Amino acid sequence: EGCREGGGNMAAGGADRPGAGGLALLGVAPGAPSCPHGPALLFVKTSRGKEEEGRRFYACSACRDRKDCNFFQWEDEKVSETRLAAREEYNRKHQPSFTHRQNVERYKNFVLLPLSKRRFCQECQQLLLPAEWEKHSDHQFLCDISTAQLKSPSQLLYPLEDKKTNAQYLFADRSCQFLLDLIIDLGFRRVLSVGTPRLHEMIQSKASQEDDFRVRSLLLDIDFRYSQFYTEDEFCHYNMFNHYFFGGEAARETCRKFLYQDNGERVIMVTDPPFGGLVEALASSFKKLMAMWRETEKEGRNNQEMPMFWIFPYFFESRILEFFPSFNMMDYQVDYDNHALYKHGKTGRRQSPVRIFTNLTPNMIVLPVEEGYRFCTICQRYVSSGNQHCEICNSCTSKDGRRWKHCVLCKKCVKPSWFHCNNCNCCALQNHTCEKADAGCFVCGKAGHKRSTCPSLSRT
Ligand code: SAH
Ligand code: ZN
Ligand code: ZN
Ligand code: ZN
Ligand code: ZN
Repeated sequence: EGCREGGGNMAAGGADRPGAGGLALLGVAPGAPSCPHGPALLFVKTSRGKEEEGRRFYACSACRDRKDCNFFQWEDEKVSETRLAAREEYNRKHQPSFTHRQNVERYKNFVLLPLSKRRFCQECQQLLLPAEWEKHSDHQFLCDISTAQLKSPSQLLYPLEDKKTNAQYLFADRSCQFLLDLIIDLGFRRVLSVGTPRLHEMIQSKASQEDDFRVRSLLLDIDFRYSQFYTEDEFCHYNMFNHYFFGGEAARETCRKFLYQDNGERVIMVTDPPFGGLVEALASSFKKLMAMWRETEKEGRNNQEMPMFWIFPYFFESRILEFFPSFNMMDYQVDYDNHALYKHGKTGRRQSPVRIFTNLTPNMIVLPVEEGYRFCTICQRYVSSGNQHCEICNSCTSKDGRRWKHCVLCKKCVKPSWFHCNNCNCCALQNHTCEKADAGCFVCGKAGHKRSTCPSLSRT
């Protein structure tokens, strides 16, 4: 039992935290039933550490809000033939109305149209062919859709901000450009973009405009609207919580081929998953993508990891390291466009808590000096300007960019606003309530609210 570390010790986990009287994730079980989002995940209801006694059940992997998908089944439940058939029918009905192939055909026809006939229905989030205008006549639409607009679908489509499912938060241009420059400087040629449509789009549009631009990208995302703008070699409809390819074996093969090109050399995976998500489920999928890459011909790849950038808030650090011990957290603050809170500190807004976790050697990740980052020669990595090297810890210890202070009693650095409390025997906010040190929010570690209402997660 101990104190929470600055900003929340995430080691205790999320909805998958056992022992807190909640839900624990058991994972993707073989033979699991499916909902429209692919195989459901197996969970167990826990009552204060008695995991074995809880009843196990399946629930949708992608939707943490029952309103989006209410799939539920006890593990030991007998499901009748009629119900199975009804479920299959339901899953079929809940697939998109056009297939990816059809959308590719539609796009081909769309670009042949003169500007004056290019419409995009805002209500259906769909490119319209003239024969379909009638059906959408009482919907709002945009006209004169230009080639430039078709090349930046993330601007055309509205972001699906619903917190619990899609949580679509788009990179600010500066952060996206920084990521791409970094990828190029590191010598990568292919990017597996998992839930990073804006990065994918930046790569795609440069590739089509600049002759000497050599980087290619494959987008894996659950947002099927993107299939209207990209071919089957550029986009796979994918669920990153259960490693499910909606397009079946053909889509999986597309991904495999992409990773295999050039003997699997010079490829990096970049992912920016919804933050409310189950870290364990994400990690399990990412390990499967890594394994797919590892199967490339190349000898001696057995122990190697596919290079990866996992973009996630800093308070998930210990959680990510649990699954990927080789990862390090970089100080770079990732900024977003449609996010009121996570914009750059310099503009007077709150600083973004979102960071890059990577298995690349930290000293290779060069952060922009003009934005205040500096190189610490002892730590051999770039750090925030406020992140001072602590002589006692022998490391640049700040997680949030502010200058942290060392507490000799805790034997570590803590947030500047914290003081050592002799009662709790650790550092905490001055006005904290001493008891119930472990009853805080699992996301940020602070008391007084639960995960669902954590201010550090609310992005609007
Ligand atoms: N910052 C990124 C977008 C991150 S938002 C960018 O600008 O490119 C999270 C992304 O993950 C969204 O594109 C969303 O559609 C996708 N996503 C959400 N749930 C998903 C799931 N279960 N499987 C795959 N992708 C998912
Ligand atoms: Zn579902
Ligand atoms: Zn240092
Ligand atoms: Zn210290
Ligand atoms: Zn202390």
